[in-house]
Amino acid sequence: MAKYYVNKNAQANGDHEVHKSGCQFMPKPENRIYLGNFANCHDAVREAKRHYRQSNGCYFCSRPCHTG
Ligand SMILES: [Zn+2]
Repeated sequence: MAKYYVNKNAQANGDHEVHKSGCQFMPKPENRIYLGNFANCHDAVREAKRHYRQSNGCYFCSRPCHTG
């Protein structure tokens, strides 16, 4: 299990990136929403989509969930 967060700020393409605890690209605390503890990034992205319809896994820490 790992803690996952979603970035409150969208990327240039509109994606809100989902990051796993420890990622070097983790947004600052004021710029992220804690999603919860998940066994994989797929569950984390599903939860993130409740906040932002256009959520996407971080290329670096959640590559299996990164699309586009
Ligand atoms: Zn990341």
